Amino acid sequence: MTDVERREALEAIADEVRTCTNCRLHQTRNRAVPGEGDPDTEVIFVGEGPGFNEDKQGRPFVGRAGDLLVKLLATIGWRREDVFITNVVKCRPPDNRDPFPDEIAACAPFLRRQLEVLDPAVVVTLGRFSMATFMPGARISQAHGTVRSVDPATGAAAATVFAMYHPAAALRTPAIERESYADIAGVPMALLDSRRRREEATAAATLGAAQVATAAAVADVASTESVPAPVDPALVDPEPIQPIDAARPELVEPDDDAAEDDLAVVVTSSVPVGADDPAEPQLTLF
Ligand code: URA
Repeated sequence: MTDVERREALEAIADEVRTCTNCRLHQTRNRAVPGEGDPDTEVIFVGEGPGFNEDKQGRPFVGRAGDLLVKLLATIGWRREDVFITNVVKCRPPDNRDPFPDEIAACAPFLRRQLEVLDPAVVVTLGRFSMATFMPGARISQAHGTVRSVDPATGAAAATVFAMYHPAAALRTPAIERESYADIAGVPMALLDSRRRREEATAAATLGAAQVATAAAVADVASTESVPAPVDPALVDPEPIQPIDAARPELVEPDDDAAEDDLAVVVTSSVPVGADDPAEPQLTLF
């Protein structure tokens, strides 16, 4: 999918969210909150549902919890414009109550489609309701700061999920706030790891496709080639054939330690995500 197609696909989903009447939450909302961010990002943050400020502005995480999210991102050198931010439910539950299971189910196709379009390498869940979508059965007190691979049925075809506490919980409890700062420090490493897995999967798929194509071409030639005439031994050139190894270039063994060293250098500096030019934020509202 090209950048333009991705942007248009996200905008089309956002338009549907804004006019959605699939559950009772549309009756009490002021504005639906589809999500926003860089359509070309590798990382999506998924919260629970819009609160008071989000419902007024139609944008995710713009209240106090959003301010904390921005601070957490800054500690790893990222801005909110560099990632995509959305929620499990796109309309505010009245009085900020927890979303009901039928409301989450009604909204799930929107999140699934956003994930299909974005194809993120990392999904960061913020809070229990988001975590339950990507790490079913996990307990947040144990799972925060840890990763798992994402079930492609969620829409994220090749992603790692990284669980975090909800920023609102961090605002209420200083110990959780401290843990959130410690947790987010692990996100760049999760991104590097997921990138490597995705590259390996792509390389394996490319190699597999090339092998299938070669096998098909060989079978094709074998089935169409005419049977060669028997060779007269008297006509065979007596020149000795070069041993194949003499012509083969020397194989260079990959240096695992060097690869590890490269990784260490990247991790201890910073892992950029999103827009290449920090001077030109690419915030896109959906
Ligand atoms: N809490 C959420 O879960 N999402 C928001 O967008 C804002 C607050």
